[in-house]
Amino acid sequence: MSTEAGSAVEAGSPSSRLTPDRAGADQPYEYRRVPLVEPDWTRFPGWRQVTAAQWESSQWQRVNCVKNVKQLRAVMGDLLDDRFYADLEADQQATATMSMLLPPQMLNTMVPQGAAAGQEYTEAFYADPVRNYMLPVASDRLTEWTSHPHSARDSLHEHDMWVAEGLTHRYPTKVLAELLSTCPQYCGHCTRMDLVGNSTPAVAKLKLELKPVDRYDAHIAYLKNHPGVRDVVVSGGDVANVPWKQLEAYLMRLLEIETIRDIRLATKALMGLPQHWLQADVVEGVERVARTARRRGVNLAIHTHVNHVNSLTPIVAKAARTMLEVGVRDVRNQGVLMRGVNADSHTLLDLCFGLQGEAGILPYYFYMCDMIPNAEHWRVGVWQAQQLQHDIMGYLPGYATPRIVCDVPFVGKRWVHMVTEYDREHGISYWTKNYRTSIEATESDALTKRYAYYDPIDTLPESGRRWWSKQQQES
Ligand code: SF4
Repeated sequence: MSTEAGSAVEAGSPSSRLTPDRAGADQPYEYRRVPLVEPDWTRFPGWRQVTAAQWESSQWQRVNCVKNVKQLRAVMGDLLDDRFYADLEADQQATATMSMLLPPQMLNTMVPQGAAAGQEYTEAFYADPVRNYMLPVASDRLTEWTSHPHSARDSLHEHDMWVAEGLTHRYPTKVLAELLSTCPQYCGHCTRMDLVGNSTPAVAKLKLELKPVDRYDAHIAYLKNHPGVRDVVVSGGDVANVPWKQLEAYLMRLLEIETIRDIRLATKALMGLPQHWLQADVVEGVERVARTARRRGVNLAIHTHVNHVNSLTPIVAKAARTMLEVGVRDVRNQGVLMRGVNADSHTLLDLCFGLQGEAGILPYYFYMCDMIPNAEHWRVGVWQAQQLQHDIMGYLPGYATPRIVCDVPFVGKRWVHMVTEYDREHGISYWTKNYRTSIEATESDALTKRYAYYDPIDTLPESGRRWWSKQQQES
C-alpha cells in the first residue's frame, strides 16, 4: 500500500510521518548553519599592511584602538563621507555619554562584507548594527524625547547600594564587585555611564577614590563578614583591564572565603578584544584560578556581552573555547536588546545560534536597555520585549534559550512576562519583588509596593505621547 503522496514508504511507519511537506514547511525562522569568518582587515586603507601576527597581538590591538575622529579617518581613508565624521563629532560634543574607544577587532566587524551592490559605503556604515551602538552619531538620537523624563545617570542605583567602594549589594545572596572603571572598549549604551570611562562634554564621570589595593581589601573584608553572600560578579568596567596578576590575586582571595560558591567574571573584551584572553600569561593564570575553583567546588564562569552575530569571529570563538579548555565552567552571553542593533527575532536567533553552535558561548540573557540619558532611540517597550521572547522560543535547546529581562530600578532583573500591571497607553509597567536591597532594611513596604518602569515615549500611542508632553509642560 502506498501513501497519499505516492511514496513507496509504508503508511504508519515512522518515516512515513516525515513527509517532505512537513519537514520543509514554512517557518517564521529558518535555521541554517553559518560558520564564523574573520573579516579581512586589510580592506581598510589604514590597515592594508597589518599582518596576522600584529592582528593577533593584544598589545597591537590596544595601541591601535580608535579613540577619535582623526584616528577613524586614518583607518577608513576615503571610504566614509565627511558627513559621517561631522555627525560623529556632533554626537561626541553634545550627547554621547561614553567617549570613543574601539579596538580594531570590533571596527573590523562593521560592514564585514563591504557595501551591498548599489549601496553607498557610508549608508552601509550608518546602517551597520555594531556601528550603531559602538560609534553612535547625532542623527541616530531621537530629536524629541531624547531622554526619558525618568532616565537617570545611575539608573539602577548601583552606586547608592555600595557597601564598600565599587561593591554593590542589591540582591540578598549576590554582589557586584566593580574593580575598576575602565574597559578596552566603550559602548554607547553603557548602563554604568555614570562611572565607566572618560568624562564626555555631556557627562562628568564619578571617580573611584580608593587605591585599587584598598578597594579590593574592603571588598574582601565585607564578604568575609557577610557569609550570606555566596555569589560575586567580578566586573568593572571590564576585568580585562585589571592587570592579570592583580586580578588573579583578587580571585584567589575570593576563593579562600568558604561561603563564596559562584564567581562570574564580566568581560566584554572576550568579544571586543579576544586577543587579551589568548595571551599566554592570562591563559595560564585562568587555568590556575579554574583549578583552584574546581578543587574548592566553586563555579567559575565568564560572562560576556555580544549584541550581534557579526561580532562573532573565529578568534572570539577561540578565546571562548580556550577559557573552557582551561577549566572555566561556562562562558555565557548577556546581550542588550536595542533598536537598530538586534531588536528583531531573526537577528536574535542568528546571534544565539552563532553563540551556541559556533562559539561555545551560552545565550543566557538579553537585558532591555536601561533608562539612562540619551538612550531612547535604543530602548524598546516592555510589550516589544515580550513579543520578542515569544518569537524566539522553541528554536534553540531549552537551556540555551535566552531570557529577556527588564532590570527594574530598585527591584532587579525580572523576566519580561513577570510584569504585575501594565498601562500600555502611558507606557508604565509595574513590578514587585521578593527581597530587600541593602538600602531598604527598614522600609516596611519594600516587599508590597509596586515599582515603575517606563517604555520609550516615541513608541506610545498618540494619546500617551500627548499625556507625557502635558506632564512635562506642567512640571
Ligand atoms: S564593556 Fe560593559 S562596562 Fe564597558 S562600556 Fe561596554 S557596557 Fe559599559
